[in-house]
Amino acid sequence: MANKRDYYEVLGVSKNATDDEIKKAYRSLAKKYHPDVCKEPGAEEKFKEVNEAYENLSDPQKRQMYDQYGFDGPQANFGGAGGAGFGGFEDLGDIFASFFGGGGARQRSRGGVKRGDDIERLMDLQFEEAVLGCKKTISVDVAEPCTACGGTGAYSKSDIVTCSKCQGSGYVTIEQRTIFGMTRSQTVCPKCGGRGQEIKKKCEKCNGKGSQVKNKNIEVTIPAGVDTGLQIRLEGKGGAGELGGEPGDLYIRFRVKPHKVFKRDGDTIILEAPLSFSDAVLGTSVAVPTIYGDVSLKIPAGTQSGTKFRLREKGVQNVRTKRKGDQIVIVNLVTPTNPTPEEKKMFEQLKNIEVKEKKSVWDKFKALFKK
Ligand SMILES: [Zn+2]
Ligand SMILES: [Zn+2]
Repeated sequence: MANKRDYYEVLGVSKNATDDEIKKAYRSLAKKYHPDVCKEPGAEEKFKEVNEAYENLSDPQKRQMYDQYGFDGPQANFGGAGGAGFGGFEDLGDIFASFFGGGGARQRSRGGVKRGDDIERLMDLQFEEAVLGCKKTISVDVAEPCTACGGTGAYSKSDIVTCSKCQGSGYVTIEQRTIFGMTRSQTVCPKCGGRGQEIKKKCEKCNGKGSQVKNKNIEVTIPAGVDTGLQIRLEGKGGAGELGGEPGDLYIRFRVKPHKVFKRDGDTIILEAPLSFSDAVLGTSVAVPTIYGDVSLKIPAGTQSGTKFRLREKGVQNVRTKRKGDQIVIVNLVTPTNPTPEEKKMFEQLKNIEVKEKKSVWDKFKALFKK
């Protein structure tokens, strides 16, 4: 992951490039660096880099995640190992068909070996679990090589024979009549799917697939700071591959339940707290709840309702930067609705003082309208 180039830089487009611009840039670069075309050193790495960039920027969701979290976010492994970098092939089939007959298909199916499906699961998290991170155990169906055939898909070793159509090469040459005369091109053997082998009798346990599905409990570590809509990838925990093909990936998408009192705005936690009339006038010091425990906050004398106080680094730790956001405390003045006779007396005295000293806020307000 070290020294990875920015995806936009790789494709040579701006951060706000349109889908069309991204596609166009990708096509021309993929064509330029395709290992079958470009013989300059490092072409293959460039090609993979370009593919990975395209895979992430062509998918609106992945692009948004990348824009927001970069490589180190929960999707950091996207398009990394596992041949996912070649995902763009399907899309390029039309370009490469001209380089080697049906070449797109050759790469895609790689000889009947099929990669497992990616699986997406939804996970509900409590507010604290999402903010602080947690470990969760989930039950998933994972693929394992078939114990009966060892992943070959054949009933016995002697049931695996060389393909009679391609003699084991996996490719057949086809001749086509075109306006330029007869052309010869190679294509994947239709009989064995490019494997070069045929199975006479299939394994009975896995029905020739070479893998078995087992239900397992796996422990998932949820990083601190995740939020609704974000997802993480667990490599190889998706659907079973066929005939030795890699398993797919498991994507876990989060849905975070709202908290009773804390609200979240990105990395900022917002808390609304009540403030009594006397505390607002005289000032006080209060123990404010935060997700990390109580924090002492000084309310100065003469604080107005709606005043915001900032508690540094008491917010959410950013998934990517690991920097902590702040907590904002908004104090709301609570007017007594049911004062005791003694309290009522105090307020009446207060009112009398205001009248006498002409300090009533209403009088000051009305004064604004006098000439
Ligand atoms: Zn089997
Ligand atoms: Zn064959």
